[in-house]
Amino acid sequence: MQNQLRTPVCIIGAGPGGAAAALQLDRLGIDHIIVDKAVFPRDKVCGDGLSGKVITCLDRIDPAIGERFRATTFKQESWGVTFVSPGRHGMDVPYKPEYNKAEDLPMGFVCKRIDFDNFLVEELKRNTHTHLMEGVTIESYEKTGNGYVLKDNKGAYEIHADLLIVANGAHSTFTKNVANIHMEPKHYAAGIRAYYKNVTGCNEDSFIELHFLQSLLPGYLWIFPLPNGEANVGLDMLSDHVRKEKVNLKKLLQDTIAQDPVFKERFKNAELTSTIEGYGLPLGSKQRVISGERYMLVGDAAYLIDPFTGEGIGNALYTGRFAAEKAKEALEQKNFSAAFLATYDERVYRVLGSELKLSHRLQQLVKYPRLFNFLMKLGTRNKQLKSLISCMFYEIDVRKKLTQPSFYFKLLLNR
Ligand SMILES: Cc1cc2nc3c(=O)[nH]c(=O)nc-3n(C[C@H](O)[C@H](O)[C@H](O)COP(=O)(O)OP(=O)(O)OC[C@H]3O[C@@H](n4cnc5c(N)ncnc54)[C@H](O)[C@@H]3O)c2cc1C
Repeated sequence: MQNQLRTPVCIIGAGPGGAAAALQLDRLGIDHIIVDKAVFPRDKVCGDGLSGKVITCLDRIDPAIGERFRATTFKQESWGVTFVSPGRHGMDVPYKPEYNKAEDLPMGFVCKRIDFDNFLVEELKRNTHTHLMEGVTIESYEKTGNGYVLKDNKGAYEIHADLLIVANGAHSTFTKNVANIHMEPKHYAAGIRAYYKNVTGCNEDSFIELHFLQSLLPGYLWIFPLPNGEANVGLDMLSDHVRKEKVNLKKLLQDTIAQDPVFKERFKNAELTSTIEGYGLPLGSKQRVISGERYMLVGDAAYLIDPFTGEGIGNALYTGRFAAEKAKEALEQKNFSAAFLATYDERVYRVLGSELKLSHRLQQLVKYPRLFNFLMKLGTRNKQLKSLISCMFYEIDVRKKLTQPSFYFKLLLNR
């Protein structure tokens, strides 16, 4: 017996992108269905690093959500980033220069995705306009004269929607088959993640660590500290290089931890508490068309991961919110054409485009270890560069400064 459901908007996927869209639609008073193949809480392979964009976006959807997230105890507050260059120059960059933990609100967090995504889904359950369907895998989507008809893989549901928000992640078949966006190894990364206990030498204010070691280039190893002495440890590398050099990421991670003199010491008493899992990172190093007649893509389904930092949760939340706001206009004007929805793309790339471009340039810089070493050395000595890098992670407007030649001129004068 098949259940037939009708809705103005159907969101496929309840990860950060889909959940943000649903939270924003609810605040706009728009009824919608959100479907996820998983039953939450569920894991997602990730570094678990939440940038300032995450809390900013939650606050923008509804300050009460941000407040409830700040009050949770399952996350680790993080006050900065440590970059380690191929020449092993370490640079500690706080998210806010001269921060005061007693007075400042933390901007960065490390939070296991099993907890963060479940927090968002619990928020969905508070909504009045959200119909959440868990454990339902959307298998087919058919465009008809007046919308999309979605069917699940068990033949249990048929959902009729005027508009789709597609948020089903890096392996979205909709992205491939309908939006015609395909995986290109130059614009895609492979990542693996493991959880360890008792890694020593972590920063006392839980700075996240990015190690661009010579032996790992063009990839990097991260250590992100979690509560209770745990850490998320992983490796990320451009798929192009992984394929060409037939890199075994799991082996590279384990060998680095076992053989590198610094890591060998830091992991001496560490215990692997999970399996080592891998997943794809669709990078936003190239602009794509991310909407079409009666649909908008958000988050990983729209290929929006930062090519330098691997950060995608913030962009998923932002685009989920933008898609919901565009959905409101489309419903009001009863216009679901590709031309009308194209202003969603314009907004996404207006807000995120310049930082994605800049991050693409920084990703290219990693190919030149000597230049990278030089900049890191410069950064440890130059206050302006250091504070700029700290803002880069957390303030989009500041990143734009980096695209202005006058910044580099001032920097050289201040050396
Ligand atoms: C190794 C690794 C490390 C990373 N580290 C970081 C980091 O530290 N910080 C950061 O910000 N980002 C990081 N990212 C990127 C981040 O994980 C993604 O950008 C983020 O999860 C995107 O959110 P999303 O909602 O678009 O997709 P997802 O989080 O992938 O959510 C998609 C949802 O869709 C559901 N779904 C899929 N198919 C269907 C279907 N057919 N029917 C119904 N439901 C479906 C899934 O169950 C899932 O819940 C990392 C990624 C990887 C792989």
